[in-house]
This record gives sequence, structure tokens and C-alpha cells, in this order.
Amino acid sequence: MSRVRADLLVRAELVLPEPAAAPIRDGAVAVRGGTIAAVGPWAEVSARHEGARLLDRKSGGLVFPGLVNAHTHAPMTLFRGLADDLPLKAWLEDHIFPAEARLTRELVALGTELACAEMIRCGTTGFVDMYLFEEEVARVVDRVGMRAWLGEGVFDFPTPAFPSGRAALAETERLAAAWGGHPRITITVDPHTPYTCAPELMEAARDLAGRLDLAMVTHLAETRWEVEEITRRHGKTPAAYLDALGLLGERLLAAHCVALTPEDIRLLAERDVRVAHCPESNLKLASGIAPVPELLAAGVIVTLGTDGAASNNDLDLLSEMDTAAKLPKGLHRDPTLVSATEALAMATTQAARALHRPDLGRLAPGAAADLVVVDLDQAHLRPCYHPASQLVYAARSGDVRDVVVAGRLLMEDRHLVTIDETDILARVDRAARELGLGPA
Ligand SMILES: [Zn+2]
Repeated sequence: MSRVRADLLVRAELVLPEPAAAPIRDGAVAVRGGTIAAVGPWAEVSARHEGARLLDRKSGGLVFPGLVNAHTHAPMTLFRGLADDLPLKAWLEDHIFPAEARLTRELVALGTELACAEMIRCGTTGFVDMYLFEEEVARVVDRVGMRAWLGEGVFDFPTPAFPSGRAALAETERLAAAWGGHPRITITVDPHTPYTCAPELMEAARDLAGRLDLAMVTHLAETRWEVEEITRRHGKTPAAYLDALGLLGERLLAAHCVALTPEDIRLLAERDVRVAHCPESNLKLASGIAPVPELLAAGVIVTLGTDGAASNNDLDLLSEMDTAAKLPKGLHRDPTLVSATEALAMATTQAARALHRPDLGRLAPGAAADLVVVDLDQAHLRPCYHPASQLVYAARSGDVRDVVVAGRLLMEDRHLVTIDETDILARVDRAARELGLGPA
């Protein structure tokens, strides 16, 4: 049999090709370029591939598709723990907006690099980000090697980055031109919320996304306050209001979707809107609990996000999956709701569907080589009957051993390859002191 060249061979005790698939014992993944060339038993894959570097995790390694964080604000790691235990509006207006007024491009880059370090350590290979000075986020992502969907936040009012929403949309168009064709970075159009963007601005965002064929990201129905405010202003729920403006569609990834009526759920399903569920942020800000079982039953694609580190307070998708699986069970007193497999799917296969990227979220020939190795050889991870259960209910970020994105090792044996972590931690602490936001 002729042997095919590969760049990287990952051998593992268990390979989980996708959440609902049967795990392969003593399995292997062959990577060539940025994509997966083969997945299967080690004996077969190794017999057919040569010349590759071997990552040997036969003892205790569990390989699974990289996790995608479908909603975050990466640079907000700088505000982690700054103002906790407050209602969303007071938290945002009295603490976060004033802190953000002091943002600079350098701080955004620094916070992003910290976020990337944290996310890689949690088994995250890609993330959807909305923030200010988003080009700095793109530069860091380009250098660090993660995959990302990035949008400049669009608001009615001036931000430290841009004087108006129109200027932020112009920046979005510029970013789309500058980063178009990048193998790992995709630009999105990001009107912030229905209550921070006037109807005309929402429509301009919609038109730009249509003209450039870009996905859109927004926050939707995060709180009851938002529903009351939008109903007062426009006589409709936020979902119905965005629908009237022509924003609901498969192009839109809507974060939160907590305060929905049954009619809103029907509308989101009918329009094929994709939802980024952020359970820990919603719990911490007491916004409520998104009706995930109802959304899933209606056929809505539901993904998982951590939201920013100022409202979570971590970017750990492993713990987010755990919360997403347990929350509906407790709320409805029904242990069958949102299984471990479904929670893992939200962060992998469903994220791929939501982002229109069928080559992500699973390990298969032709798919992107975004994969994670967890070390099962630990007291809290043995025995391992069901890998998906282990990942959702028992694994922690410290268990992640290796991370590969587009065929490149970003973490090897718990060492970050593309980030100088010691340097970043020192610089972040120094920047936080200089910002002078909290107690010294
Ligand atoms: Zn958010």
C-alpha cells in the first residue's frame, strides 16, 4: 500500500470524532496542511501515512474537535472581577462603559492575548468576538493562531474607537476588505443591541451584511428590561422588532435570547436565526435563563458562549457546557433535558452549523484540523465510559494538554507555543494597576 505524506499524526487512547459518534480506541488523526487527512484506528492511519511528526497521547489522551466560543468580548478579560454582583444595567453603565472609556488599542491587544491564552487552555480553538478596536483583536488572533469571527461593535453613541455607528460600520467594511480571504479570520457585522442601535443604524448594518455577504452578531432579548424598553419604543418584542427591520435570518447569530415569548421562539425558528446561549453570564447578571429546550424543540440552532470575562468571569467552555447541561434539568426538574452529547454539540457541531462552516466541529477527512487533547489520566476523569459525559461533567481546563488549530500546535503538553504567558500575565497586571479602576 502506498503511503501518503502527513504533517502531524496524533495518536490517542480515545478519539471522539464528533459528540454523538462512537469513540475510537487506540485511534489516530492524521493532519496535512490545515486539514484532517484521516481519522481511524492507529494501526490503519499510521500504516497509510508517513513523514509526520507524532504527538503520542496513547496513554490517557482523549482527542475531540476543538470547542468554539460563540459569543465573547475577548479584551474584557482586563475587567475580570472589576465590578461583580450588580444588575446588568448598573454594571454596564456605571462600571463597564466608564472603564471602556479608557481603552486604547494597546489595551485591547493585551486583553485579547490574555483571552487567547485562557481560551486555548480551556480547549477552545475558535471564538466569535464583538468589541471595540476589533482590528487589534484580529492582529492578535492572526499571530496567536486561533480561529475567529470578529466584529466592530456598532452603537448609536460615540465609543472610544469611533465617533458614530456609521463610522463603526465603515470600519467594518474596511476590516472585511483588509482581512478578506484570511484562512482563520472572518469579519462580521455587529450592531450591539436593539436598544443601543436606532432602527436606521440596524438597517444600515443589515444592508452592509447583505452587500458584503457577512454574518451578523447582536445581543437579543438579554433581559426583561430590554423587552419592556423595546416594547415601549417600538410596540414589539425585540425579536419581532428586528424581524420588522429585516434582520432575522440565517445570517444572524443572536446572543442570549433569554426573555423570549413562545411567539418569539417560533419566529427565530422560522427565520433560521442562530442563538448563542450564555448561561453563566445570564445567571451572574441575574438576567434569567434562556428557554433552550424550547428553542431546540422548535429546531433553532443553539450554540454556546461565555460572554465577556467581566460577566462570567472566565472564558471556560468546559464549565459552560456543564452549566448548559445542568441548568434546564434543575429548572424543569427533568434530567433528560440537554444531554452531555447535546451540550458538547453546542460547542462543536452546532457552532459549525451556526457559522456556516461544515468543515468545523468534527474530526473527519477534509475537515479543518482544529482538535484538542484532554489528559484522562487523572483521579477525576477515570473510569471513562462516555467521553462526552467526561468532557461536559468532569473535565476542567487544567486537563487540556494539547490544542491544534488549522494543523498547528498552539499548546503542547500544557505549554502555550505562540503566547509568552509569563510576559502577558505581568503586562496585564501592570496595565490593570495603571488603569486605576479598582483597589490597588
Ligand atoms: Zn455579549
